[in-house]
Amino acid sequence: MLCTTIAGAQQASLAVIHARVWTGNAAHPWADALAVNGNTILAVGDTAAVQKLIAPHTRVLDARGGMVTPGFIDSHVHFLEGGLSLRSVQLRDARSKEEFVARIKAFAATAPPGTWITGGDWDHQNWGGELPRKDWIDAATPKNPVWINRMDGHMSLANSLALAAARVGKDTREVEGGAIVRDASGEPTGILKDNAKSLVDRAMPAPSAQMMDRALDAAMKYVAENGVTSAVHMGTWSDLEVFRRAQKEGRLRTRIRSAVPLSTWERLAQTVAREGRGDDFLSIGCLKAFVDGSLGSHTAAFLEPFTDAPKDRGLLVNQPDDLYRWTSGATRAGLQVMVHAIGDRAIRLQLDIFDRVRNEQHPPDPRFRIEHAQHIAPADLPRFAGIGVIANMQPYHAIDDGRWADRVIGPERARTTYAFRNLLDLHARLAFGSDWDVAPPTPLEGIYAAVTRRTLDDRNPEGWVPQQKITVEEALRAYTSDAAYAELAERRKGTLEVGKLADFVLLDRDLTRIPAPEIRHVRVLATVVGGETVYEGGR
Ligand SMILES: [Zn+2]
Repeated sequence: MLCTTIAGAQQASLAVIHARVWTGNAAHPWADALAVNGNTILAVGDTAAVQKLIAPHTRVLDARGGMVTPGFIDSHVHFLEGGLSLRSVQLRDARSKEEFVARIKAFAATAPPGTWITGGDWDHQNWGGELPRKDWIDAATPKNPVWINRMDGHMSLANSLALAAARVGKDTREVEGGAIVRDASGEPTGILKDNAKSLVDRAMPAPSAQMMDRALDAAMKYVAENGVTSAVHMGTWSDLEVFRRAQKEGRLRTRIRSAVPLSTWERLAQTVAREGRGDDFLSIGCLKAFVDGSLGSHTAAFLEPFTDAPKDRGLLVNQPDDLYRWTSGATRAGLQVMVHAIGDRAIRLQLDIFDRVRNEQHPPDPRFRIEHAQHIAPADLPRFAGIGVIANMQPYHAIDDGRWADRVIGPERARTTYAFRNLLDLHARLAFGSDWDVAPPTPLEGIYAAVTRRTLDDRNPEGWVPQQKITVEEALRAYTSDAAYAELAERRKGTLEVGKLADFVLLDRDLTRIPAPEIRHVRVLATVVGGETVYEGGR
């Protein structure tokens, strides 16, 4: 079987032979070789046939039985924050209060006095759930304001210097859609949640353009090592400038689709009218907003109270009227709307809005997205396919939250948590992503998570809520063809077919032929974007 159709272009610039090629193309799911000409796939088929396209100048990759998949598309990242976090204090795996403090102290000792220490990605669940406080770290950070986020980005810890810079104290008023955690005397402990974080964000000097450029370069290098060829960035207008600058300078190595805040949809509509929607490397046309917060911060909006906080149903970060107005305007302007909703109340609210807008406007192809869609009320499961809402989900979060989520939402609600199986069975479209820097941008770990649902603490060897497991190929589709669909790029990428962009990954083993728990140990040997090898590692 050889599916070459590009007449005249019979010489490959790059060829991969002796591979197990998973094409993602339902008509020809498997092949064993691939030829590329320039940035485009020239042929997919068997090694003997592809070898005929090899010329003296052709670069030949002998896969020696390794697996080739379409390049992974990370459908939800905070790419620049991820890049910045690679260069900051690392707290994600700090296992105790002492370790948390010690790492911050060690990092502060190397930081120039006066500079802000940010990032961190701490997780208080690692030491039993006690929230950190400013007095834990004040003595360790006498010369630097500290403003470090929980790994979910929905709460952050400030030390006393940062609170002083932001003028946050006992008298500071609460912020709608947020919370200032206080001690018994009303004094802020240093933890600010969701919208209240803006109090300190505002006081922090913006990183320089040069810092942002370096963060982008670091992020591109890091994701290439993990097989990611495209990323959908949840960002701001100034982030878009960072990507534009990189494109102008020829530095983009990851394809970026850059979202801007939904509240600014009119500005995006004007920009698209003036400049178009970009190209294969940098595209615009999508918008992002929040309905609620996160589970780990107790700010996700639920229909019923949290199991461990019987008076609390979480919070709404934006008002339903605003969300409707923005969604309606953006859809009418032909823009794609992507809305973060985690709790069942938030998900229902946004499904209602999408349904209403669909009935009012009958948009031809809106590709509505709910980001995360973590805790879906059973009655709402069929509505994803019914309304045509893509569920953009982060399987790694499932094996992370699964360590403690039962305590927060109880076993009943857990049954339709990260409901991959239910959604697919109900014909919904799943796109996967990492939410980096909330979780690592490692699709192989994401596939492992979706297939095994083994929590990070190894307490659920058969999987947490095992009825929601999916197969390797289903998980692959969510990272490739359906992720391409979720960014309106399925004609250009997401499967390995003649004429599509030559974005692919070479793995050392075939994911479909190894025990599922092994998937997380599979290695990326090469990552190719548009025919160019952006990462190559040894066996
Ligand atoms: Zn996110």
